[in-house]
Amino acid sequence: MTVKVLINISYFAVALLFILGLKAMSSPVTARRGIIWAGVGMVLATLVTFAWPHMGNYALMVIALALGGGLSWWSGKTVKMTDMPQMVALYNGMGGGAAAAIAAIELSRGETHAPMAAALATMGGLIGTISFSGSLVAFAKLQGIMRKTFRLPAQNAVNIILAMLTIISGFGIVAASHAATLQIFIFFALALVLGAVITMPIGGADMPVVISLFNALTGLAVGFEGYVLNNPALIIAGIVVGSAGTLLTQLMARAMNRPITNILFKPITGEAQTGGTGIAGTLKEVSALDAASMLRYAQKVIIVPGYGMAVGQAQHKVKEMSVLLEEAGVGVKFAIHPVAGRMPGHMNVLLAEAGVSYDKIFDLEEINGEFAQTDVALVIGANDVVNPAARTEKSSPIYGMPVLNVDHAHTVIVIKRGKGAGYSGIENALFYADNTRMLYGTAQQVVNEVIKHIKELSS
Ligand code: NAP
Repeated sequence: MTVKVLINISYFAVALLFILGLKAMSSPVTARRGIIWAGVGMVLATLVTFAWPHMGNYALMVIALALGGGLSWWSGKTVKMTDMPQMVALYNGMGGGAAAAIAAIELSRGETHAPMAAALATMGGLIGTISFSGSLVAFAKLQGIMRKTFRLPAQNAVNIILAMLTIISGFGIVAASHAATLQIFIFFALALVLGAVITMPIGGADMPVVISLFNALTGLAVGFEGYVLNNPALIIAGIVVGSAGTLLTQLMARAMNRPITNILFKPITGEAQTGGTGIAGTLKEVSALDAASMLRYAQKVIIVPGYGMAVGQAQHKVKEMSVLLEEAGVGVKFAIHPVAGRMPGHMNVLLAEAGVSYDKIFDLEEINGEFAQTDVALVIGANDVVNPAARTEKSSPIYGMPVLNVDHAHTVIVIKRGKGAGYSGIENALFYADNTRMLYGTAQQVVNEVIKHIKELSS
């Protein structure tokens, strides 16, 4: 059996591992297993690279692997759960950058390329570079390095002109089949600027969707470069990432009711966020003791976690409280909004980590009808995902986004630290409603106090 056949068999195994891994990631029960399978696939694909004939400088490859592997191991171990979106943005940007680097090297080799190979290398280079610079801007914004959203005058016109110039210069490279270094340089420089300029006006609330979109684009770029290098593993990995990323982008955009075109070309701006109608009513505070007795003597409670539960690392206390309530005969369910927190599945992961059983966790569509028959809806650090303005205020920037109908419950208790707005920066009338009581404090500390009082009431 030749080395080439062995390499191809290994690549087939890699493809299977990627696909099975991705499938397993679709359920929280099997997600860990899925990550391990896909990781094994990645290690195998990397090792197989060494078997390719004429690979060149093995020492450089080992140094690059040690550096990349070491850095990602360290950052993966130390990253906070709430910082995960920017971490994904950074890794994703590196993938796009790697695909673009392959394109740049291939195009500047000085060899004449077949039109198909030149076209795919150029398209991969374009998409990979946009994904690279766009993801770095996304990272800088989420990390707080770049605080403002910069919107140029006539932003959309600038985007279109830049895109046209980049595409024309790309056509020039393909037509030349053996392009000059300056031509290639200009093309990549334009693509770099384009990625950054498109991303800069996009606000934080839309950023996770944009990251997912760049992730899909990176997959596509990698797939194209796989074709250019005649490397099946790259093609398959690219297609898998590209299609999974596209589906995720669609799902997130639908859950926020923001078409992708609006996210890219009509970003929610600071002015829009502060707009909206005045809110009637007052904020009514409740003590931890009163909240505990409302919960303890309810028949049915639905807990709605949000970003604040994640920041406050309150998931273990929340689980402890839910067990106490169940022991006291209260029916407890958890309601999860698809974009609660800062990444898809954020709340599911935290509740799974705390050991909340999956049969108590319900998606928006499954549980929304139940709030009307619920004694207490307990909102823990959630804001936008329970904002009734999304249903009722046509002028609201989040109008049309499906939300959890907690306001339909008999009583709503909201745990948050103060008057902080949600991710989209808009006010929430829920907090001022007649049936809402505010329980102020950080999630973990407040839930801890409530636990203490439930125990006292039950003893
Ligand atoms: P949110 O709207 O960001 O609100 C979180 C609330 O938690 C804030 O109002 C804050 O109020 C409170 N909070 C912060 N730290 C806290 C702590 N330590 N203890 C208690 N409360 C705390 O969160 P969300 O309702 O989960 O909504 C998610 C947002 O992210 C949506 O706008 C969604 O569109 C966006 N988004 C999410 C995803 C995703 O994939 N999950 C993707 C794209 C966009 P105080 O400052 O007063 O405490």
